[in-house]
Order: sequence, then C-alpha cells, then structure tokens
Amino acid sequence: MATHLVWFRNDLRTIDNRALHAACEDPSARVLALFIATPGQWAAHNMAPRQATFIYQTLHHLQAALAAKGIELCYHQCEDFAAANAWLVAFCREQRIDQLFYNRQYELNEQQRDAALEQALAGQVHCRAFDDSLLLPPGSVTTGSGEMYKVYTPFRNAFLRRLTASDTRSLPAPRPRDQGHVTRHRLAPFDYPQQAVDEAHFPAGEEAALARLRAFCREQVPDYVRQRDLPALSGTSQLSPYLAIGALSPRQCFNRLQAECPGLLERRDSGAFGWLNELVWRDFYRHLLVAWPMLCKHQPFIRWTRFVPWRAPGEAFEAWKQGRTGYPIVDAAMRQMNQTGWMHNRLRMITASYLVKDLRIDWREGERYFMTQLIDGDYAANNGGWQWAASTGTDATPYFRIFNPTTQGERYDKQGDFIRRWLPELAAVPDSAIHHPHRWAEQQRRVLDYPAPQVDHATARRETLEAFEDARRHARAQEADDPY
Ligand SMILES: Cc1cc2nc3c(=O)[nH]c(=O)nc-3n(C[C@H](O)[C@H](O)[C@H](O)COP(=O)(O)OP(=O)(O)OC[C@H]3O[C@@H](n4cnc5c(N)ncnc54)[C@H](O)[C@@H]3O)c2cc1C
Repeated sequence: MATHLVWFRNDLRTIDNRALHAACEDPSARVLALFIATPGQWAAHNMAPRQATFIYQTLHHLQAALAAKGIELCYHQCEDFAAANAWLVAFCREQRIDQLFYNRQYELNEQQRDAALEQALAGQVHCRAFDDSLLLPPGSVTTGSGEMYKVYTPFRNAFLRRLTASDTRSLPAPRPRDQGHVTRHRLAPFDYPQQAVDEAHFPAGEEAALARLRAFCREQVPDYVRQRDLPALSGTSQLSPYLAIGALSPRQCFNRLQAECPGLLERRDSGAFGWLNELVWRDFYRHLLVAWPMLCKHQPFIRWTRFVPWRAPGEAFEAWKQGRTGYPIVDAAMRQMNQTGWMHNRLRMITASYLVKDLRIDWREGERYFMTQLIDGDYAANNGGWQWAASTGTDATPYFRIFNPTTQGERYDKQGDFIRRWLPELAAVPDSAIHHPHRWAEQQRRVLDYPAPQVDHATARRETLEAFEDARRHARAQEADDPY
C-alpha cells in the first residue's frame, strides 16, 4: 500500500485543495496530513501574532475536517524552513512516505525551501507540487513576447481571456477513507507571541469562510462598487484573512460569484465585476513576485526610487504607528488595524501614502509594520500595495500624485462616522469640523485630547516632490535611469 503525505502550508482547507485532492485520488493509498509550525521563520517574515493565532485556530478546524474524512493531521514545530526540511526528510523515511503532495508558495524563501526539499528527497520520495492559491498560475498570463505584464489593465484583459478558457472548477473535499483509527494529536500552542483575534468578527475555519463568501456574494456584491471606498460601511467582503492563509481559495470566490451573478464578465460596471477585479489584483501581485524575485528582497520595482532620501523613522514614525499624527482619517485607520488586525483598502492607501509622502519615511518601514499587525498579512499584496502607494512599484501611482489626507477623509468619510468610531476623543466634534478638529477647538475655546497635525501637508508635499525629482535627476546623472 502506497503512503501519501499532504503537507499543508498556506492552504488550510479540505475543500478545493488541489494537493489534498490529488493525494486522495488513489483509494487504496494511506493518506497522512502534516502541518509544521516554524516560529523563527515567521518572526523573520514579520508575521503578525494575530495571524499566527488565526492559523492556530484554523488548524483545529482543519484537523477536525480531516479526521471526518479519516485522515490524521500530524503536527510538528521547529525553528525555521531549514529545520522543517531536515525534520521532514526524516519523517518521510520513518513513515515510509512514497509521495509528498503540496501546494506551491511563490515567495522566494518558500520557493527555495521547496527546491531544497525536493533535492533532499530525490530518489526517495516523489514530490508533487500544485498551483492552487491563485486563479491562474504565475507565468501563464504573458505579453505576446512571453513576458510578464508590467501594467495592470492589459494584464487583466489577457488574464480574463485566459480565465474563461481555463478549468477553474472548485474540487470537492476528499471522500471519507477507511484508514482505521485517526489519532487527534494535541496541537501544542505555537512558540510565538500570542494576540487575540476577535472570533465573533473573524471566526476561524473553512466553513466560516464559505458562509461569509456566500452571504457576501448574495447580499453585498451588487453594491460593491458604490460602497467599497467607504470605510464606515462594511462594503467589502473582509475575506482577506481567509484567503491569506488559504482557508478559502480564489476559485471558490470566483465560482460563487459566477453562480450569484451569471454573465458578470460582460457587465464591467457591475459590482460583481468590480469584486472580481480585486481578485485579479491579488493574482497580479503574485505573478509579479515570480517574474521579479528581487521584489522579495526589499527592492523597489522602479530603480531610480532607490535614490529617494528617506528620513530616519523616529518619533514621527512612532506617532504614525500609534494613530497620533493629528490627521483624523490616518489615525482612525491605524487604530482600526492596531486593534483588529484588519484595515479597509482605501485607508491602507491613505495611511501608506501619508507615511511615504507626508513623512517621507521609507515605504519598507511601513510595509514591515503592516505585516506585524495584519491578520491578513500577505507578502505579495502588502508589498504590491506599499510599492503602489510609494510610487516605487510597477503600475504604481505616479510620484507626483500625493494624497491629501484631509480631502481624502472628507471624500470617503464625509460625516466622520468612521473617525468617531476609532477616535473617541473626537466624539464631540461636529460633522462639519471632524476633519479639522483643532480649528474647531480653537474657535470654541476648547482643549482637545488629540494631537495637532504633525506636519503641514502643503509643505510636506512640496518637499517630497523635490526629493523624488532630485532622486530622478541623480539616477539620470548616474545613467541608472532604467525605469525597470
Ligand atoms: C499599503 C497596502 C497594504 C496591503 N496589504 C495587504 C495584505 O497584507 N494582505 C492582503 O490580503 N491585502 C493587502 N492589501 C490589499 C487590500 O487592501 C486588502 O486585500 C483588502 O482591503 C482586504 O479586504 P477585503 O477582503 O474586504 O477585500 P475585498 O474588497 O472584498 O476584495 C476581495 C479580495 O481581493 C483581494 N484584494 C483586494 N484588494 C486587493 C489589492 N489592492 N491587492 C491585492 N489583493 C487585493 C483580497 O484577497 C481580498 O480579500 C494592501 C493594500 C495596500 C494599499
């Protein structure tokens, strides 16, 4: 009897899991599942303790779902990827594993880990890797000359043509297997800092993810485009924590969306198309990582931006982290993330732009801080979002486009409902003054327990433009003006 091992990484679900499905195809095989916690590696990757907690909670659901199918989940904890590989080679020998199944991860360290493992197992275990975490595999959507697109819209157009011609069906969970007694191993808590997750808001497990997906597609998708930029509403799916750890697959999202909104690809102004567009952005950033691995090495995509003279992160950075910049929309957003682990997309754009363009602090500082806080931390999406906001990325916002944090607040949180939710110290400020609370306080002769704006936006904007222009000139002078 052959023994198959499924190594779960960021694909913590039983439904529509390509590696698991393939491992279970042979009804006579003995199938084992495995999860290896690598806290040292997670720390090096700045994983938020909240995300680790969410993974831990999800593992219990995965263990139960696998047990119901007659599959045992083995569990091990070690320092990092190198230690995981060494342990796994021994485990395969001990358990007489014939085939190892796993879904690919596309970040550089993860790819290197898998390549090293395959080498170590060569001749002993047949390794089978699957593209599972994206709608389409990296490298499958290219220009006429076979290169990855650098601009999103032509990528999306080519992507959608390929998507409609591809098999995107979701796979069912495996059939129950009769493999004898299934041991439910104790999942020892991760040796990693703990931080609570609001379980009412983000209940763990694939069932919870699917329930949210169904409700969102049925009830909220039609209004998505109208509501997606308004942080006071719950107008977006908040499925990102589940997608980031693979408790849900993007194919499940696409298929549910199509079931609720048939013909969505023909109606490009619809909420359904708008939501699909975001899933395509998710793929885009991962496809970029594979095409340009330097993106995993903290490099900007646009090379001349390496010369931007960033300011040292000091008190200003601390104030940004704590939500005490004196710009209400920025502060409310940072406090939302610090307290819940999630931040609305419009606010991620505003807070990132503020750090980079108003404080002129290196985008990599912000990128790192977000990872330490986000329950949905995802290297590709986070790096893509930061490089977009910092004007250092491919198809990023141009460097001369600088968000004004006050007018952004006025446009997307007009009455200040979102701001008041996170900044109770501004509860008494009327709607008309919520974006300029200090001006109002002065007129009213009141003292606010809220900091004054830490920078003057107009001055900061002018200085940042000069800094980017200097960097560009400097790069030209060095003949390093290769935009890519
Ligand atoms: C500076 C910055 C940092 C970000 N960091 C992350 C991150 O670490 N993890 C993460 O998942 N997203 C990140 N994003 C993208 C986006 O903000 C979140 O995916 C989104 O807010 C999640 O909320 P939602 O699930 O309600 O999204 P929805 O609007 O419901 O979108 C559905 C799904 O599409 C994907 N998606 C949506 N917008 C984007 C986008 N712009 N780029 C890539 N994928 C997208 C997400 O998986 C999301 O769950 C970042 C964006 C910026 C500007």
